[in-house]
Amino acid sequence: MPDARVEELLALDRQHVWHPYGPMPGRREPLLVESAAGVRLRVAGHGELVDGMSSWWSAIHGYNHPALNEAARGQLDRMSHVMFGGLTHEPAVELTRRLVDMSPDGLEHVFLADSGSVSVEVALKMCLQYWRSLGRPEKRRMLTWRGGYHGDTWHPMAVCDPEGGMHELWSGALPRQVFADAPPSSYEEEYARHLSDLIERHAHEVAAVIVEPVVQGAGGMRFHSPTYLRVLREACDAHDVLLVFDEIATGFGRTGALFAADHAAVTPDVMCVGKALTGGYLTSAATLCTSRVAEGISRGEVPVLAHGPTFMGNPLAAAVACASIDLLLGQDWRAEVKRIEAGLRTGLSEAKSLPGVRDVRVLGAIGVVQLDHPIDMAAATRAAVAEGVWLRPFRDMVYTMPPYITGDDDLARIARAVCAAAREG
Ligand SMILES: *Cc1c(COP(=O)(O)O)cnc(C)c1O
Repeated sequence: MPDARVEELLALDRQHVWHPYGPMPGRREPLLVESAAGVRLRVAGHGELVDGMSSWWSAIHGYNHPALNEAARGQLDRMSHVMFGGLTHEPAVELTRRLVDMSPDGLEHVFLADSGSVSVEVALKMCLQYWRSLGRPEKRRMLTWRGGYHGDTWHPMAVCDPEGGMHELWSGALPRQVFADAPPSSYEEEYARHLSDLIERHAHEVAAVIVEPVVQGAGGMRFHSPTYLRVLREACDAHDVLLVFDEIATGFGRTGALFAADHAAVTPDVMCVGKALTGGYLTSAATLCTSRVAEGISRGEVPVLAHGPTFMGNPLAAAVACASIDLLLGQDWRAEVKRIEAGLRTGLSEAKSLPGVRDVRVLGAIGVVQLDHPIDMAAATRAAVAEGVWLRPFRDMVYTMPPYITGDDDLARIARAVCAAAREG
């Protein structure tokens, strides 16, 4: 792209385009991506950058993948969209079948949503409506642990970490939920008791517990013992509370299990997936639930789930999602994620000795370097770009979740860039 055109686009961008979590007008210049293929982004003025972010967990197979392109093209020639009210189609039915087959046993029904946040809204609505249908409308609060992130729309914001999280500004305006302490990384009996006690104490007013299983993503990239999922399952069963797993970040192999729930062999009552669902091609998410939840709702005074996004079940997104799932399950994805885990462990180990580094942790295809101070985002990003890598550090962290197709040399380069960003940031 000619330099003059790049300048023009960036000037218009600064003037008119609101970027995620940014001010208006923008204070920092975004990089202009011209195209992407495999694990590389072609960026104006910087050549090719190896992508260490999978476009926020989603592009697990990399960019411009022939099988996903083919699925999109094939569907485009049939139809890109039809409404889902009163109509159905093969891509949506096939996607639903795949999700039911691959998810923890017992999740039988699927609501197709158009983004992760909406799938969380739907999950919360299902839980509240379930208890309303059973004549217990007073059970309408949610319980979660601190340090979580569940999206940016209203009710998901209410279950994000209320302090220090990105939605702290709204804590007085949002519905007040019940918060447990953030989960410790390893299993502690005392914390398990804290969770169970809190669930028991609030069971009369709580509809459901919602958590990100095993990995808390945008709330701080913290990992915790899968045993806590079993503690939650038992306490929820004992005290008539539903359990929701938000697997929007963790789903589709990222943590080394197909879903993080699999680490503990626990089936939640409701589960949200998104992000990697379409391999990063199109916006789509899903809320899965058990027959108990679906039947409970359907026996109520209002026996329907009153939700129906305009682009629900979008055929293009569903067709690509099917292709992405087939691509994932058709290969030894477990070995690929293990390979990336090993590469990140080796590559990031040198970060442990850097000044200002508090913790280095790796799980599945996720690597995190946490500093003891807020990061200088601009300096850290510049350092990564100088190494030929795209990273998006935030808060006190540099982290990476590369596409599963990342080769060993590119992986080593990503790890070098994470260390450089941690040093400069
Ligand atoms: C990203 C994310 C969401 C929100 O998904 P969007 O598609 O951005 O609305 C919700 N929960 C978790 C755990 C996420 O990582």
